[in-house]
Amino acid sequence: MMRLYNTLTRQQEPFAPLRDDTVRMYTCGLTVYARGHIGNFRTFVSVDVLRRALKDVGGWKMHHVMNFTDVDDKTIIGAQKAGMELRQYTDQYIDAFREDAARLGIESVEDTPRATDEANLEAMARMIRQLEANGHTYESDGSIYFRIATLPGYGKLARLNHEGIQAGARVDADNYTKEDARDFVLWKATRPGEPTWNCGVGPGRPGWHIECSAMALRLLGESPIDIHTGGIDLVFPHHENEIAQSEGATGQPFSRFWIHTEHLLVDDQKMSKSLGNVYTLSDITSRGFRPSALRYLLLSAHYRKQLNFTFTGLQQAEEALRRLIDCLDRMATVTRAGAHAALQQSAADARQAFDEALSDDLNTSAGLAAMFDLVRVVNTAIDQAQIGRDDVAALEKIFGHFDDVLGVMSLRRAEDREPPIPEAEIQAAIEARHAARRARNFSEADRIREDMAARGVLFEDSAQGTRWKRK
Ligand code: AMP
Ligand code: ZN
Repeated sequence: MMRLYNTLTRQQEPFAPLRDDTVRMYTCGLTVYARGHIGNFRTFVSVDVLRRALKDVGGWKMHHVMNFTDVDDKTIIGAQKAGMELRQYTDQYIDAFREDAARLGIESVEDTPRATDEANLEAMARMIRQLEANGHTYESDGSIYFRIATLPGYGKLARLNHEGIQAGARVDADNYTKEDARDFVLWKATRPGEPTWNCGVGPGRPGWHIECSAMALRLLGESPIDIHTGGIDLVFPHHENEIAQSEGATGQPFSRFWIHTEHLLVDDQKMSKSLGNVYTLSDITSRGFRPSALRYLLLSAHYRKQLNFTFTGLQQAEEALRRLIDCLDRMATVTRAGAHAALQQSAADARQAFDEALSDDLNTSAGLAAMFDLVRVVNTAIDQAQIGRDDVAALEKIFGHFDDVLGVMSLRRAEDREPPIPEAEIQAAIEARHAARRARNFSEADRIREDMAARGVLFEDSAQGTRWKRK
């Protein structure tokens, strides 16, 4: 039985989907005004592991929705600064997200709606009209607000009393006229130079919170959905307000489980532009690390614990991943026939320990520990020639199961098949180095060699010319 920590109840609860055998899950996706950073990807990797565990440990099917927030204050300001149409501006970051997510082995989900898709804007307008009909809204200067005083349960996720609610970082703090500072905007009246839509609630644009409520219910069907996920910073006000809107509109509980990933810190600090520690995946790979090492690092800590990113930690993740791959490579060279009962038992125990760890609120660090126990046993068995092809077949199946959930070994294998940087760039560097040598500019030739080594490419010179291999 899988158990998950539910932010709503502040405890672990046994999980199973409510209806048939499909988990209906919603994840708040990226706000597409910049390339996602490794903090965002900590959340998305942990959600990916959740998704995989639900399928491969829980045995369920998934209907998983992850949106793109492609209209809000940041995207609008970004597009204005870039002199681009909003849609065109956000397209580039959606493409970048898809690229980075694929490089990190994050599975594609069933639906990736954009807030500005026509059908979604219409769903938002419908929800707002329903909230109006239920007496939860008021209008002021052409904008529509949610009056939280009309919903007695408001604050149940964040566990706030009404008086204690402060204007948080992402509370809409601009100068719309609200009756009460704690109320939040559902639909913002058109302002000059901003994109505007007219879907039956007056010309304007959606507030951030309504986007997720409307997209979740439009795509996942009736309330309650099974799981709603995101980073810990979204608990308040975003998720609290999503609950208010969805429950205010439908009169039904919105989501049964709320699952939140703790933040990633960098060198013990919050990522921020001023500290220059907002790393993207490309910042990581340009230092010679591969996405699989980052994925490994991200899943090595339990998702509800803060994780401190350092390059030393990333190097250790790389080394652990190599130990794992080395073991699999060694295993593949076994040619002897036969099976060994003790080894088969260790393998079965490891699988059980792994599944128990993942079922225990997605304890990936314990899962990895179980896997590495098996790695040690297998290495010893290989050293002592106590392993046969039948063992290898069983072991490969079990490591395959681990990887279905962790998604890190197959990722490394796929990377191994790719040059670390585009082949054309490598060839150009080889040419440039030869040219420098012919000109007897050996320091330049060395610089090129070292530069490529730093990017993961080693040159091997021979009488036939220069070939490259992965560092
Ligand atoms: P945003 O694009 O700001 O809406 O964020 C996308 C997702 O990344 C949300 O689920 C956030 O909670 C999450 N997130 C933002 N910063 C971090 C961080 N430092 N660590 C982990 N998750 C984060
Ligand atoms: Zn959301």
